[in-house]
Amino acid sequence: MDLQTRLSGIPGIGFSYAKKLEYLGLLTVSDLINHYPFRYDDFSNLTSSLEANIGEKVTLQGEIWSIKNVFTRSRKVLTQAIFNDGQSPVELTWFNSSWLTKQIKVGDRLQVSGKLNKYKGKMSIMMPVWEILTSTSEVPVYSTSEVGGLVGGLHTGRLVPVYPETFGISSKWIRTKIAQILPQVIDQVKDPLPQEIRQNMLSLNEALQQIHFPKSYREVEQASKRLAFDELFFIQLATQKTSLEWQHKTSVKKFQITNSKLQMFLNSLPFELTESQKKVIDEIIDDLKKGVPMNRLVQGEVGSGKTVVAAAIIYLCHLNDFKSLYMAPTEILAFQHYETLQKLLGPFGINIGIYTGSRKFTKQKVSKGKNKKPFGTFDTLNPFDTSPNVIVGTHALLSEKFDVKDVGLIIVDEQQRFGVEQRTLLRAKAKIPHFLTMTATPIPRTVTLTLHGDLDLSVIGELPKNRPKISTHVVPEKKRRDSYQFIKNHIKMGEQAYIITPLIEESETMQSVKAVKVEFEGLKKIFPDLKLGLLHGRLKSKEKEKAINDFKDKKTDILVSTSVVEVGVDVPSATIMVIEGAERFGLAQLHQLRGRIGRGTEESFCLLYTSNDKSQERSRLKNLETTFDGLKLAELDLKMRGSGEVFGTKQSGRWDLKIADLTDLELIEKTRTAAKKILQDNPTLDKHPLLQAQLTMLASNVMPD
Ligand code: ADP
Ligand code: MG
Repeated sequence: MDLQTRLSGIPGIGFSYAKKLEYLGLLTVSDLINHYPFRYDDFSNLTSSLEANIGEKVTLQGEIWSIKNVFTRSRKVLTQAIFNDGQSPVELTWFNSSWLTKQIKVGDRLQVSGKLNKYKGKMSIMMPVWEILTSTSEVPVYSTSEVGGLVGGLHTGRLVPVYPETFGISSKWIRTKIAQILPQVIDQVKDPLPQEIRQNMLSLNEALQQIHFPKSYREVEQASKRLAFDELFFIQLATQKTSLEWQHKTSVKKFQITNSKLQMFLNSLPFELTESQKKVIDEIIDDLKKGVPMNRLVQGEVGSGKTVVAAAIIYLCHLNDFKSLYMAPTEILAFQHYETLQKLLGPFGINIGIYTGSRKFTKQKVSKGKNKKPFGTFDTLNPFDTSPNVIVGTHALLSEKFDVKDVGLIIVDEQQRFGVEQRTLLRAKAKIPHFLTMTATPIPRTVTLTLHGDLDLSVIGELPKNRPKISTHVVPEKKRRDSYQFIKNHIKMGEQAYIITPLIEESETMQSVKAVKVEFEGLKKIFPDLKLGLLHGRLKSKEKEKAINDFKDKKTDILVSTSVVEVGVDVPSATIMVIEGAERFGLAQLHQLRGRIGRGTEESFCLLYTSNDKSQERSRLKNLETTFDGLKLAELDLKMRGSGEVFGTKQSGRWDLKIADLTDLELIEKTRTAAKKILQDNPTLDKHPLLQAQLTMLASNVMPD
C-alpha cells in the first residue's frame, strides 16, 4: 500500500464504500489520511461512575449486564443496556440503533464515553460512544494514545476526532480505517517543506499523527497549525509562481520617488499619518520602484484612512508623469473622492476629473470637438480643468470608449463591491500596469482573491488616534420613542444623524421593512423642528450630490438614506447612526454602516432597530454592542451563513480549504512571505523536487473554473 493506492482496492473498504467516500472527495490513501477532523469529543476523562461529576463528559470501563431493544409508542426503537463499572449500574440508551444488540452481548467488557446524567438516583448516558475492550489486556483496539497516564481508546477514552461524514460513512468508520491505514503509510509521507520554512513547526508526519490521534488540545493546535500552513503555503506558491512568470513578461518604467516631494504632501495634511498608513505607503512605493506591475490589496478597517493613502500614491504617480484612475463602487462615493482629492491634491497642481454613469456626457460640448477623447470630454465639474491627471469615477470607467493610454495606475476603492469579472475585464482591457485595490472588510471574496493569488496584501492595522467610542445599542421597540428624544437632544447640541432604511420602494414581499420615502414622510412628523435630507440610489446624480453636500454643510440635520451610504461616505460631524430593519443586514455590513460615524472627535451612537423579536436575532445583533472589530464580525457572519457559500469557493471550485481559515490574515501573510522567499531564491523550484511534486499534484486536483 502506498499513498496513491486507491481506496477501492483496500481490503475492508471495497467498491461500495469507495463510492461513498467519493462524496467526501476521498479517492486515495493520501486523501483519507488528509481527511481532517472538524472537532473532537473530549472523552479523555477515564473515571468511575461514583467519582465522576454528573453532567460531565466521561469515559467508563465496565461490563454489560443486559441489553435489549424497546419499542416506544411512536414506534421508535430504543436500545437500552445496563452497564456496570464495578461501582454502580449505569443505563445506556441509543436511538434507532437496533443492530447494537447484535454487536454488544451480555458479559462484554466495554469502554463507553458520553455525558453522565443522574435522574432519581439512577445514572445514565444517552447515545454513548463505545468500544469493546479486548479481554487480555483491558486495552482497546488502538492503544498507542495515552491520555494523562490512562489508557486511551479509538472511539472512547481520549480526544475523539469527529470527521466530516456522509451517508453510510460515520466518524466511527473513518476512525477505524485511519487507525488501520495511517501506521502503514506514515513513513512514506515526506515532508515537502524545507527546514528554513518549517522552522519550529511539527514535521508533516507528526502533524498527521497528531491531528488524528491527539493526546491533548495542544497537540491538536500544533498539528492544525502545521497543516493549515501547508494548505495555504502551496496555494501561495502556485499562484505566486504564476504571477512571477507573468511579471517577468511585462516591463514597466521604474518610478522615481523623491522623498522630499512626498514629505511636502504629507506635511500639507491636517493630521499626522498613522504608523500603519506610513507602512502601507512604503510597501506600495517599493512595488512602484521595481519596474514590474504592482498588484496590491490594501485592507484597512472602516475609518482607518485609506483615501489619503490613495491620494499619496496618485500624487507619486503624477510626479512620474502617469495618469491615474480611481474607481469607486457608487456615484456618491465617487463625488466624495473627487472632492477629497481636489482638497488634498489640488494645491499641488493636480487636475482632478470625474467620470460616472450620469456625468460623462453632460458637459461634452466644452471640448468643442477639439479633443474627442474621453479624457478631454468628460465632465470635469471644474470649468478650469481641461486635462485631468486623475479621474475619479464609477464602473463607467470601464466603458469601451475610455482611452487609458497614459494611465499608469488604477485604484479600486471598496474592491469587494466589484465583481471579479469587472476587475479582470478592467485589467485585461486597460493594460494599466499598476493596480491597487482597497477594502474595509476582509470580505471573504477578497481573501479568496488573495489566495487566487495575484494580489499582494497590505494591512492598515490601526485607526487614527483619538477616535471616539461608538456606543451601540439594539433598541427594544418600547424604547423607540425615548430614542427619538435622545436623537433630538443630541441634534440640538449641534450633532447630526443618519437614519438608514433598507429599501427604496415599499415592496409587497418585504412589508415589514419601511420604505425610505414613507419613512421620510413619517420622520418629518417625528422631527418637525429638524431639517431632513433624503438619499437613495435612484436619485439623479445631482440630487445625490446635493443631499450629501447639504448634510456635510450642516444644512440638514438628519440624512434619511438607504444603505447606499454603507460604503465610504465620510462626514466627520455626523455622530448618530440609526438603522431600521437591522435584521436584514449581515454584521459586517452593519459595521460598515456604523463606520460612517465616529469619524470626528465627538462620542458617537449607533442605534439598531429590528422588527424581528426572536431572541436569536437580537443576540446576533447584540454582537455589535461589544465587538468593534470588522474581522471578527465578518467571521461571525461566516459562522452563521456557512463558509462554502460565503467564501465563494463553491463557485470557483478551485481551492477547497480543509483546515486553514481564510480569514486568518496573519497566516495568509506568513505563507505568502514564505512562498516568496522560496521563489526569490529559486524561481523555477528545480532545487526543491518535493515542492514541485506537491504543486503538480495540487494542479491535477484543481478543477477547472
Ligand atoms: P476609510 O479607510 O474607511 O476609507 P477614510 O479614508 O474615509 O477611511 O478616512 C476616514 C477619516 O479619517 C477621514 O475624515 C480622514 O480625513 C481621516 N483620517 C485619515 N487618516 C487620518 C489620520 N492619520 N489621522 C486623523 N484622521 C485621519
Ligand atoms: Mg473609504
